[in-house]
Amino acid sequence: MSAIAATFEEGLAGVRTRIVAACTAAGRDASTVRLLPVTKNHPAEAVALAVAAGFPAVGENRVQEAVAKQADCAALGVTARWELIGHLQSNKARLAARHFDRVQSVGSVKLLDLLDREAAAAGRLLPVLLQINAGNDPAKFGAEPADAPALLEHALGRRALRVEGLMTIAPLSDDPAVARRTFANLRAIRDQLVARFGVALPELSMGMTADLEAAIAEGSTLLRVGTALFGERAPVPAAG
Ligand SMILES: *Cc1c(COP(=O)(O)O)cnc(C)c1O
Repeated sequence: MSAIAATFEEGLAGVRTRIVAACTAAGRDASTVRLLPVTKNHPAEAVALAVAAGFPAVGENRVQEAVAKQADCAALGVTARWELIGHLQSNKARLAARHFDRVQSVGSVKLLDLLDREAAAAGRLLPVLLQINAGNDPAKFGAEPADAPALLEHALGRRALRVEGLMTIAPLSDDPAVARRTFANLRAIRDQLVARFGVALPELSMGMTADLEAAIAEGSTLLRVGTALFGERAPVPAAG
């Protein structure tokens, strides 16, 4: 067995144990929380392992890395759905609309318009999540909570996009209460939007390796987990 396969086998068992424990503590059925393996900075083999373990989708945070990995996966005969979870630059919207099955990191009206135009041009109905900076973190992308209603209203008018829910990343902090507060805030924002617009926003994408318990406690439906499944990511090669 390759090193990454061994890491994944052990990591997956550990993550599943953590999810079951957190669901039990929160009084939730573990089947209501799904896991999105994050394969960024890992090779196509990571995607193959996830698919072989029964995961239909993987998360990637950079468009070009994902496009290259998709080609590698096609060569290996590995089929997965691909979700973009990282910041999307405007000039990558065209590629993103064609190469991803869902974009979770949509935090602006401008990006909604670009993705809508590109998805329409590609003849696709593209599922999206609205990324909200629910922890009011100056270092994070995503719409400010106060702008969430306007963002959703605009999104609902885009014919080539389908809004499925919200996504957030908790601020880096040694205090677990910070993540918990962030996730509680995202859920509250979701509940307010549902009441105000009368639409379903079932997906709450929140929780990563460091804070998945807090996310489960606050209603996460989708955990985006990389490190705990695949180990530390290979360092990004220095430029030059
Ligand atoms: C990398 C990444 C993750 C996974 O983080 P881990 O700490 O490795 O589990 C989740 N969400 C986003 C947006 C990421 O960029």
